[in-house]
Amino acid sequence: MTRAEIADLLGEEPRANVRAAQIAKWVYRKGATRFGEMTDLPENLRASLGATWQVSGLAILRKQESTDGVNKLLVHSGDQQGFECVLLPYSSRVSCCISSQVGCAMGCRFCATGLGGFDRNLDAGEIVGQYLMLQRLSPRRISHVVYMGMGEPLLNYDNVIKSLRLFKDEVGLSYRHMTVSTVGIVPEIRRLANEKLPIHLAISLHSPFDEVRDRLMPVNRKWPMAELLSACREYVEATGRKITFEYLLIEEVTDTEDQAEELARSIKGLPCLVNLIPFNHVDTEQGFRRPSRNRVRRFRAVLESAGVNVSQRMERGHDISAACGQLAGSHAGKFAKRRSLCTVLPSS
Ligand code: SF4
Repeated sequence: MTRAEIADLLGEEPRANVRAAQIAKWVYRKGATRFGEMTDLPENLRASLGATWQVSGLAILRKQESTDGVNKLLVHSGDQQGFECVLLPYSSRVSCCISSQVGCAMGCRFCATGLGGFDRNLDAGEIVGQYLMLQRLSPRRISHVVYMGMGEPLLNYDNVIKSLRLFKDEVGLSYRHMTVSTVGIVPEIRRLANEKLPIHLAISLHSPFDEVRDRLMPVNRKWPMAELLSACREYVEATGRKITFEYLLIEEVTDTEDQAEELARSIKGLPCLVNLIPFNHVDTEQGFRRPSRNRVRRFRAVLESAGVNVSQRMERGHDISAACGQLAGSHAGKFAKRRSLCTVLPSS
């Protein structure tokens, strides 16, 4: 809930706006889970709130901790429908990767979430709640949030926008430390550009060729490369922010030199970064393989020699299958169909 929504809930309470600000601070900044903890509220208000309302957090279905400090949670909000979030501590900052939907309708061929199908959108509370759960596990403050867990954030537009505002206004994060990742929902990229939020936009590109993208990502049949790149140019123009193109390197599928050349050509002049992600083995029955280091080096060299800014994603949490969805996949029951999901983690 936003502060204004909390104030509404307080109704006739004197100084409702002040009380709402206090409650928001306890929930979003201090991680309070009971009104009884909110010691700067009058005692009778704490009691009446506690009798009517609850500060509902998420429940943990499963937790895994990696030797490199990565923590991964499978959580739910009472209905046992699990979704995942990951805590990613780095030396200079702490980041987290959160989900925007339970399941996903996009059907990307390298990701078993797509195979498992879509269940439902997460509401803004469930999105921000993942951060609050992870913050409890982290001795350091989580400063960065990336929407790269389960789901396509731009297909849950209103809840994602509300959660971004809650992160900024209530949790106190900078928009510049929030990254929304999309497979390329063109109308929603344009809509997002109009919000004028200085967040970071990441596009899962994975190939510059329509025929390859069509095969890997069904979304490309609706919004092919030319349309996607034109929306990206509009986004950069409207926001002044550069875009990150996430590029999954799959041996002989997306890592060929002609694709590196075409990629460099097609994004020429667009302020952007290409983030290379060598494929992590996830069995989606497509026979995809991780390219050798040499092939990765060659692909990168072609881009760099064409003047493209390139980074390579740091991989974390290997020992706990920290790629999104792998925990949901191993959870017994309804969600066992999701053997594994996204193969990637946020960049360092
Ligand atoms: S990669 Fe992302 S958008 Fe594609 S199916 Fe997986 S969760 Fe959905």
